[in-house]
Amino acid sequence: MRAIVIHAAHDLRVEDRTDEAAGPGQVRLRLATGGVCGSDLHYYNHGGFGAVRLREPMILGHEVSAFVEDAGDSGFTKGQLVAVSPSRPCGACKFCLEGMPNQCLNMRFYGSAMPFPHIQGAFREVLVANASQCVDATGLTPGEAAMAEPLAVTLHATSRAGGMLGKRVLVTGCGPIGVLSILAARRAGAAEIVATDLSDFTLSLARKWGRTG
Ligand SMILES: [Zn+2]
Ligand SMILES: [Zn+2]
Repeated sequence: MRAIVIHAAHDLRVEDRTDEAAGPGQVRLRLATGGVCGSDLHYYNHGGFGAVRLREPMILGHEVSAFVEDAGDSGFTKGQLVAVSPSRPCGACKFCLEGMPNQCLNMRFYGSAMPFPHIQGAFREVLVANASQCVDATGLTPGEAAMAEPLAVTLHATSRAGGMLGKRVLVTGCGPIGVLSILAARRAGAAEIVATDLSDFTLSLARKWGRTG
């Protein structure tokens, strides 16, 4: 199985890794599409971001969709398209035990050099994931399904911003997260969406997807 491995800034390699078998509660997936996140670009361009630095080779990637290859006892079917959540809470810390796994203290997030050993990512031909990480994406394109994680980020930001119904909303930056934020603000009923960016290209995408100012 081939994987995309970052060794250091500007040192990205395609390497062979051993295949894993699916255990109980797990599914074996064949990757369909992966989105390149700003954090992936930071690992490539700078070897990390903020105080986080690569200290060992790491498979990149966390925004992915995949086809189920071995469904095990999950209830999914072979060949089914799924969106894959990159977050794997520990299930044992105080937040996990209080039913808030999104606040997990030991989150194992794909392609993250924050903990050591690093958490290996999802840019690989075959991925063994927990069935609970997978959501049916039948009817979407693999590319659309791979946008589930960044879309979730913007839906969370929208809910943190409070009610948007009839409001004027400012989105600064019109990269993928900014454009998805515009869509999320539209969905939340914003009356006017003003977007800013330095790039005419991203501004044109923002206009296409619903900025009004
Ligand atoms: Zn991301
Ligand atoms: Zn936890």
